[in-house]
Amino acid sequence: MLRLVFFAILLIFVARALRSLWGGIVEGLNQPAKGSGDVPARGVHMVRDPVCGTFVVPERALSLTVGHELLYFCSVACRDAYRTRTAPRSDRVEGRTA
Ligand SMILES: [Zn+2]
Repeated sequence: MLRLVFFAILLIFVARALRSLWGGIVEGLNQPAKGSGDVPARGVHMVRDPVCGTFVVPERALSLTVGHELLYFCSVACRDAYRTRTAPRSDRVEGRTA
């Protein structure tokens, strides 16, 4: 009988130790994810340059408004190429210059 009580107490201690150990492991695994505030956000919205197909970040890209569409280009060359392609007859194209 005494042996059974002793075994039960031992089991409780082991269970507690395992639980705290597991909690530590889980906490350790979750730590890097929590502290990733300084890492730049993933999934930055990017748009495709219609001329060369390069994906550009809108904030850094050259933009051109065509009708109701706002297009983004990787370079002035691409933007000018798009302008001449879409408006071959007239040089008057709406949009920002440089
Ligand atoms: Zn381009």
